[in-house]
Amino acid sequence: LAAEEGFDLDGFDAVDGAEHVRLPVLAVVGRPNVGKSTLVNRIIGRREAVVEDKPGVTRDRVTYEASWNGRRFKVVDTGGWEIDVLGIDAMVAAQAELGIEQADAVLFVVDATVGATDTDEALIKLIRRAGKPTVLCANKVDGPSTEAEAAYLWSLGLGEPYPVSALHGRGSGDLLDAVMDALPEAPPQTFGDAAPGGPRRVALIGRPNVGKSSLLNKVAGEERVVVNELAGTTRDPVDEMIELGGKTWKFVDTAGIRRRVHLTAGADFYASLRTASALEKAEVAVVLIDASETLAEQDTRIISMAVEAGRAVVIAYNKWDQLDEERRYYLEREIERDLVQVQWAPRVNVSAKTGRHMEKLVPAIETALEGWETRIPTARLNAFLGELVAAHPHPIRGGKQPRILFGTQAGIRPPRFVLFASGFLEAGYRRFIERRLREEFGFVGTPISISVRVRE
Ligand code: GDP
Ligand code: GDP
Repeated sequence: LAAEEGFDLDGFDAVDGAEHVRLPVLAVVGRPNVGKSTLVNRIIGRREAVVEDKPGVTRDRVTYEASWNGRRFKVVDTGGWEIDVLGIDAMVAAQAELGIEQADAVLFVVDATVGATDTDEALIKLIRRAGKPTVLCANKVDGPSTEAEAAYLWSLGLGEPYPVSALHGRGSGDLLDAVMDALPEAPPQTFGDAAPGGPRRVALIGRPNVGKSSLLNKVAGEERVVVNELAGTTRDPVDEMIELGGKTWKFVDTAGIRRRVHLTAGADFYASLRTASALEKAEVAVVLIDASETLAEQDTRIISMAVEAGRAVVIAYNKWDQLDEERRYYLEREIERDLVQVQWAPRVNVSAKTGRHMEKLVPAIETALEGWETRIPTARLNAFLGELVAAHPHPIRGGKQPRILFGTQAGIRPPRFVLFASGFLEAGYRRFIERRLREEFGFVGTPISISVRVRE
């Protein structure tokens, strides 16, 4: 094994996930029509500054990246506010409340030409309760003549009102200086005790109606995602930071989960694009399946997408509350027959409706990530391969017997193995090796790849 060093491909593993530092977050809050969106556009300078958003969406929390005097920060446009309104607006208001909670500072926008309304007063109460540093923007002060109106806003008790014209840019420099004073230099890492690389990234995938948004809301335990019976209520692709089992997890592309495109041509295509993009961003995929229905071709296709994307995989059977004995019997058969390709994936049987076994989700995800990142030292791997080949040699083909000369793990996330052999290894034998590798080393919840290089 003198050549071992030369074959070591470990250096090929790139570090991914560039979000190591948390930027300070500014929440822009105010009644509808006071000019929040205009102001946000003024702050970010260009539309291209959009980082977590599709432009033109205003009903949900939308985050942009911005900078002022060389300091970078994030701006959250909290969307339309209306206190004590029913239905969708109330839920959007709840989003804004969460926006305030998760911000390091608040920019409160008032229309100076209107003055403070009851809604403004109610908002101020909310802001006070959150206890965040607040800057007061008196907007629509387009010229010196309206300046006096702005001064009235001292009475709100939020300190100096900064007269600004979001539309024309007047006064926005002074406002931003005040904002920078309010924002902490280095915000506390509120996103948990995340390892370098930030919170682990989870994609919740599955065909329509399996219960993705129900599950998301259940685990989030609060109205982070706007849920509504109506179609198309959540539109921007925000990632959700969710506390689970004492850690913070990033559920990627969660708004897409709620995006309803049923009944339209190309809906399947769209759904599979969304799945692909969520997988792209994630480290681990939780594939949701409706346990109460026969496994569909689309279910297995989504599982295959996760496996082919090389992600750690957890299978979650949802709607367990709806199972009867008969369905349960058939379900077991289905799992044996149709999910052989992912026998290695941890399975949890949950109900987003009743909350059944929600607590098993995190351990399953953690197990899968552990398997995904398992690295077998080269010496140990070769000791294992040596024994295995001695006990179960490759079948003789055409008078020849291919031998495995040496193996190495080329990478993790997911584990990739390269075997150097004296001849072509049949697929069946490769599968056998994979099975034995899993028996020996675990690799629960992760696809593994084995490639063979034939050396003459
Ligand atoms: P939001 O939805 O509450 O964030 O408010 P918008 O940014 O959509 O603005 C509401 C309306 O006020 C739009 O017609 C804007 O053009 C207008 N507006 C925003 N800022 C100013 C300003 O500084 N001066 C004037 N005159 N109009 C403004
Ligand atoms: P999505 O399209 O995957 O996001 O699915 P939804 O979360 O919108 O759920 C689709 C339907 O299934 C809704 O009517 C939910 O109330 C229902 N549902 C979701 N989870 C469960 C569950 O665990 N048990 C039952 N009985 N119904 C559920």
